[in-house]
Amino acid sequence: MDNVKSKVVVITGASSGIGEATAKLLAENGAKIVLAARREDRLQTIAQEIEQNGGEAVYLPTDVASRDDMQKLAQFALQQYGRIDVLVNNAGIMPASSLHELKVDDWDQMIDVNIKGVLYGIAAVLPTMREQQSGHIINISSVAGYHVSPTSAVYSATKFAVRAISDGLRQEESPTSGIRSTIVSPGLTDSELVHTISNPEIKAFASQLYNSMAISPYSIARAIAFAINEPDDVGVNEIVVRPTALA
Ligand code: NDP
Repeated sequence: MDNVKSKVVVITGASSGIGEATAKLLAENGAKIVLAARREDRLQTIAQEIEQNGGEAVYLPTDVASRDDMQKLAQFALQQYGRIDVLVNNAGIMPASSLHELKVDDWDQMIDVNIKGVLYGIAAVLPTMREQQSGHIINISSVAGYHVSPTSAVYSATKFAVRAISDGLRQEESPTSGIRSTIVSPGLTDSELVHTISNPEIKAFASQLYNSMAISPYSIARAIAFAINEPDDVGVNEIVVRPTALA
């Protein structure tokens, strides 16, 4: 993966699931990784594992819903490695519920993490990428960013928003500053996402579905690696990866 090698890649939500798999896969292919999430112990262990395998990784405890934390993350990446080639806006939560349950705190959290977190990530790295006249922002949406189902209204809304933001970013930046924008939309991937569901019935139903057909987080990591590895004049704008058996 020649075009992954040596790139500085900042990954949010890197403490588990898709973010962890992406960090490990890209590090194996020579990228320098900046791991971000809230659980410091997990980030430390993952950074150690990457280094034990001959890769390079640093980490910073970060809450993507904090504008300040995201600015600090970008500054940290620049201090460590001098540039930012790729941001993977991956952190996300899915406390699914029916609207009539009025779980307004959950709605707020999904908006804060899944939408504002992505925007704060873009705000933190865009000036640097414009100065570099190169960069790549990869935003993780979902199959729920294409269609809504009962209990997914707010989660889906956040993932529709991620697609809108990514496409706007692409139209504004790619032709002028050369910054690439990619939407990666997973479906049913083995991770800790189901743990973020608070309603016990929905959680039990989702767990059963995930146990029966979820695909490996490395399936999504490979899609992310593919988008990065394409030559810089090739913009991979959108990838959907779901279990073969998922309708
Ligand atoms: P995980 O729950 O395993 O990972 C989510 C990551 O987000 C964790 O590392 C978590 O770390 C981090 N995170 C959550 N809240 C915050 C926050 N406020 N600040 C910083 N980091 C945060 O799930 P996945 O790997 O599955 O999720 C990754 C992305 O993939 C999400 O955007 C999700 O919506 C999307 N997705 C997943 C699908 C699936 O089936 N798994 C399907 C479609 C999309 P920590 O708690 O340490 O902060």
